[in-house]
Amino acid sequence: MKIVRTAGAIREEVRAERARGSSVGLVPTMGGLHEGHLSLVRRAREENDVVVVSIFVNPLQFGPGEDLDAYPRDEERDVLLLDGAGAGIVFVPPVEEVHPEDRATTVTVGGLSEVLEGAHRPGHFDGVCTVVAKLFNLVGPERAYFGQKDAQQAAVLKRMIEDLGFPLDLVVCPIVREPDGLALSSRNAYLSASERGQAKVLFRALQAGRPLAEAGDYVAAEKEMLRVLRTEEGVAPDYAAAVDADTFGPPLPGGRVLLAVAARVGPARLIDNIDPDMEETS
Ligand code: AMP
Repeated sequence: MKIVRTAGAIREEVRAERARGSSVGLVPTMGGLHEGHLSLVRRAREENDVVVVSIFVNPLQFGPGEDLDAYPRDEERDVLLLDGAGAGIVFVPPVEEVHPEDRATTVTVGGLSEVLEGAHRPGHFDGVCTVVAKLFNLVGPERAYFGQKDAQQAAVLKRMIEDLGFPLDLVVCPIVREPDGLALSSRNAYLSASERGQAKVLFRALQAGRPLAEAGDYVAAEKEMLRVLRTEEGVAPDYAAAVDADTFGPPLPGGRVLLAVAARVGPARLIDNIDPDMEETS
């Protein structure tokens, strides 16, 4: 496995792979790796000759007062895990290799980026789209892998790929959970033992909303999810929503419905969702 740190070096490594006839899969991450990330790498390994994993804590997608400085960073550990999962190239750039100091370009996906996560984290998806577009251009993969854990991010990026004509397939992988239902997240590392117990309420809330959503009563599903979130002291809900899985607007007749929640648990802001049509693993 190779580790590269500059835009020039990643272009060169990928060019050399292409010269050998390799197909390339890209897995963008911010590090702090866990089984969720590794499931993406393994899937990419199955479907491509070489897997490029980026580890980049993207400052553009953090708002003022968010956890940019506290975000878990342990390159040595991440690199070991990636080697075990079959990554071929790890791209770990410093900020200036990705975002020029005088950067004047921002990629915005309208509408979809402004609701739920976008409403609670203004500018977040602009930061995500801008960095992912840059990574697509640096690596030029056939396929890029993202987690259903960040369902709105995947939907926003799908729109960006369609609208701007990036020549690649976006592959969305199922959420990996702990046995008790908590979705794996790098931010779970912020939780104390008691907060870790409280965090299980996110998945409980989604499960409580599910039968109501399946019966078509989305208002009742949202109310029930919020009620369950509020049963746990120390958990402060941001939203509990039933939305159309593609537009993130109100559920559409015949469309796929996604249930999504976000809440603060101690120092961590956690998100989770269930898409009744998607398989999950733990
Ligand atoms: P992050 O490092 O948090 O930016 O995540 C990198 C990628 O891993 C994103 O596409 C996430 O959606 C995905 N991911 C994070 N947690 C999970 C999980 N528990 N299961 C599946 N994918 C995940």
